[in-house]
This record gives sequence, C-alpha cells and structure tokens, in this order.
Amino acid sequence: MTTRFILSLGLVLGCAAPGMAAPQVAADIAPVHALVARVMAGVGAPALIVPPGASPHGHALRPSEAAALDRADVVFWIGEGLTPWLEDPIETLAGDAHVIELLGAGGSSVLAFREGLSFAANADDDHGHDDHAAEKGHDDHAHDDHAHDGADPHAWLDPANARAWLGVIAGELAERDPDNATLYAANATEAAAEIKALEADIAARLAAVRDVPYLVYHDAYQYFEARFGLVPTGALALGDAADPGPARIAALRDLARAEGIACVFTEPQFNSARVAAVFGDTARHGVLDPLGSRHAPGAALYPALIEDMAAALAECLGGR
Ligand SMILES: [Zn+2]
Repeated sequence: MTTRFILSLGLVLGCAAPGMAAPQVAADIAPVHALVARVMAGVGAPALIVPPGASPHGHALRPSEAAALDRADVVFWIGEGLTPWLEDPIETLAGDAHVIELLGAGGSSVLAFREGLSFAANADDDHGHDDHAAEKGHDDHAHDDHAHDGADPHAWLDPANARAWLGVIAGELAERDPDNATLYAANATEAAAEIKALEADIAARLAAVRDVPYLVYHDAYQYFEARFGLVPTGALALGDAADPGPARIAALRDLARAEGIACVFTEPQFNSARVAAVFGDTARHGVLDPLGSRHAPGAALYPALIEDMAAALAECLGGR
C-alpha cells in the first residue's frame, strides 16, 4: 500500500466524519448533564453517571455507568468535593478522556463551606461532619478529610455558574469536535439567555419573601440563596451527613419556635413525614429538590429544577 493511498484514504474517511463523529460525552449529575445536553443538541447526547434519585455524595457505580465513562472522550463533572467516590473511576476508566472539573473552570463563582448554618444544636451529632457519607445510610469509603475545608460543591444552584459553564462546555466540545463548534456556541448562547431571563423572573418572585426565616434539609443552597438574597436560619443535617437524629430535630423545633421559622424544607429522599410530625403546627413544610430528580434527565431539566426551587420557596415562605 503506497503512502499516497493511505493519505487519500484518510482524507476520504475524514470527509465522511462530520455529523457522524459526535464525541462520546459523560456528565456526573443530572443538572450538569442537562447543561451538556443543551449544548450538544443537534449533535448527540451525553451519558449521565449519577442516576435520578441517587445521592451524588455516595453512589456505587453500576456497570452501565462504568461503561459510559470507559467510552467517554470528554467527561464533565463538578469535582471530587461533590463525588469523591468518582475520582478513581474517572482516572481508571476515563484515563484517556479529557476531564473537565467545572468547580475549577473559568468564570465559576465558588463559595467556601459555611459553618454557621448548623448552629449549636449538635448534641447528638457525633456522626456529623462527614460530608461525603451517603445521605441514606453510611458510606465507609467517605473521604472525611475533605469535609468542610474546601469549596462548597453545590455550585450548580447558582444560575450564573450554569451560564458560565455553558460557555466552558461549548469550548471544550469545540476543541474535541471543531466541525460542530458553531452549533455548540450557538446552543450555549441561547441557553444562557434563557437562564438569564429565568433569573430575572425568580428574583422578582422571591423579592417578597427574602426576609422570611426557614430551615433546609442539608446545607446545599447557599449558591441559590446568595444569588437571590435569601437568608436561611439553619440546616437539619450537618454537612451532607446522614439523617438528623431525634435529639437534633427536637432542638431544631425549639429553635424554630424561638426564631419564628416559617418553613422547614426537606428533600425528596428524606422521610418528610417525620419532619411534618415533629414540626407540626410550628412551621410549614416544603420540599427542595437540588438535583431535579422529578424530571427526566435531558436539556430541559436544569431550568425546570431552578424553577421548582423558586416555586417551592415562594409558596412555602409566602404561606400559600
Ligand atoms: Zn449535597
């Protein structure tokens, strides 16, 4: 076979590629997956690693998820602060992929973990401060050393970060797949404009309830709160630890009475009947879903989850 033939064969194959050679992309959690799906619209679809309903703080990789990592040319993830268990699989399975940690990406605004939210009601919390334990049950491979001393990883709940990441995602994909660079950029610009408009709606909607005190399930929401000027009073769970014990919940109920807490927000995976029973007539009960777990994974999930958060806060804090 002559060199010339190999060269022309390469050219022929190269010419056949555009449109067919969508890069294989994997994303860690549903909100990140949604942003990537939005940027890839018209080219391909990313794989989702942490399935709906699973906690990113502790999840055991399934074979299909491992295979998606193995196939990936590009991996987008928040970083090991959110999913410490995912660091090794990314290294071993996606070693040849381009891996982008969004928490460290240009344009992200990153907040340090806050300590104040868990306040003093911690008598029964000897299991507290292991941020990366599973939210349901304990997780022995948790990396306790990362707890509370780094960046708060729940950064996707600031829509401004989502907008910045759309640009990062489009840029990375364009590098891997230059033929579709224009489409990636256009998708990212359009999605960022949609999110920006949503932010304006939400800011207007939440303006009336900004000063209403509330409790959250776990301290995951400071990015959203900082963006929209809300001020929570406390969190039921310390860090991302296991469910709060009865003594802590009772102490929080006393605090709720003393501080005039209007609302207690749990999350979809938490047994909220327990909270409703404890807080009863002291405070209203709402649900915040930081992962958009009631929505099907896909491009529409991100705006839907931000919209849901705003609706839950406006309804419960507004007393409607
Ligand atoms: Zn969390």
